[in-house]
Amino acid sequence: MGYADYLNGFEKLVTGYVPERSSWGPPEHALYGPPDPYRVPTEEANDLCFKAIKFQFDRHFHNNRMYHDFCLESNVCPEDITSFQDLCKVPLIPNEFFKDCPSGKDFALWLANVYTGELPQIQIKGANPTTDEVIKAFNDAGMAVFFSSGTGGRHTFMPRDMRSFQMNEYAMAKGVVAMFYPHWNQNMHGYLLLPNPFKTNLFAGRLGTIFVDIMKEVEMAIDREIDTELIKLSMSDGKGLKGRMVNYISKKRHQKIINDIISWIEKNQREGNEMAFVGAPFLLYATIKKLKKEGRSFDIGERGAVLTGGGWKIQEHQRIPESEFRNDVESVLGIRPEHCLDLYGMVEGNVWLTQCPEGHYLHIPNCYVHPMVLDDSYQSLGYGKVGRFAFLDGSMYSYPGFIITNDRVSMLERCPVCGRPGPVLEPGVTRVPGKESRGCAEEVRKMISVDMKR
Ligand SMILES: [Zn+2]
Repeated sequence: MGYADYLNGFEKLVTGYVPERSSWGPPEHALYGPPDPYRVPTEEANDLCFKAIKFQFDRHFHNNRMYHDFCLESNVCPEDITSFQDLCKVPLIPNEFFKDCPSGKDFALWLANVYTGELPQIQIKGANPTTDEVIKAFNDAGMAVFFSSGTGGRHTFMPRDMRSFQMNEYAMAKGVVAMFYPHWNQNMHGYLLLPNPFKTNLFAGRLGTIFVDIMKEVEMAIDREIDTELIKLSMSDGKGLKGRMVNYISKKRHQKIINDIISWIEKNQREGNEMAFVGAPFLLYATIKKLKKEGRSFDIGERGAVLTGGGWKIQEHQRIPESEFRNDVESVLGIRPEHCLDLYGMVEGNVWLTQCPEGHYLHIPNCYVHPMVLDDSYQSLGYGKVGRFAFLDGSMYSYPGFIITNDRVSMLERCPVCGRPGPVLEPGVTRVPGKESRGCAEEVRKMISVDMKR
């Protein structure tokens, strides 16, 4: 099948995520337009990217009081951004900013301050609403406010509007489908190594929504409701009576999920179905370890795909080596390394990097994202140096998506292995030392510890 027909099969399933073409502005042209976000010729990508970011910068400057003042303090206004080369002047927001927010009713006020434009009217019942109740009220009114957590117990809240969230979902899925070409198809049965996307406002969970649309049948590893309180409990240090209880239940839950995954593989193998594993790598890693110990293996072969994301920690100070993981996936499940790709993204943006099958480098969708690597004083380092990842997200409507992350990366101008034209990150993204560990896989890992009501 040619790429155009292949992509058409995908587009038919995701029409709900794409606005009417006649209504597209620069951000939509940059994000929805290119058939493959990782194969846009450099000049065209720079042009699309500049127009999208310029459009969003003007909006946030004029419609977001907080960012407006911040730009004035930094001495930058829209007239200063006239070409692609000027993008490095756009004032960046450290991601810590989205953690420093109050709880309850003040949380609603905080949201109104960081949001660009008008928030929908919401009804909050009671004098002392919880943060989860406030989030629910906004999302009932059509927003897509999701959270992510850190080990320090502080959550990150990102106030997306539904339009920005749909762009996020579409961009993630299209990037993945493009990289798996010609391997993805809609008859795949999926196992989400994630919480049920319809029962949580946790970003790592909600992301799964679109996979339900582009696969035939989807099983979820964690099927209970998950709110900020549960996450706070699961991210606690594991000490004391509560911690010991959590650890004890964790082991039992963990075993049950792994047994579920093995039964799911057996069933689909019997029925000859195509299989896709999507989500936190440690669950699949644990499954493979168990199969290995029992001397069992499967030959899923061409009928299987693995998409991991969210980080590679399995214990507090232990990471899964990615290449070893791919070797195990091949020897135990029979799925080839080129069908085992990792995805890198974060709650703060609609920025999705997918590994190429040829070299497992993380490709950047530079048609709507302008990536940077910064030193400790936030100056750009250019290519080939290790530093802090930052980006300008030309697709984000609801807040200024011009973010400095806590991730340590090395960026190359081209992939050393495949022929795609855009820049890449080397595999093995880690956290900036001293910054709290976070990552969606880490959340899922800890969440299983407190999944005790099921
Ligand atoms: Zn590549």
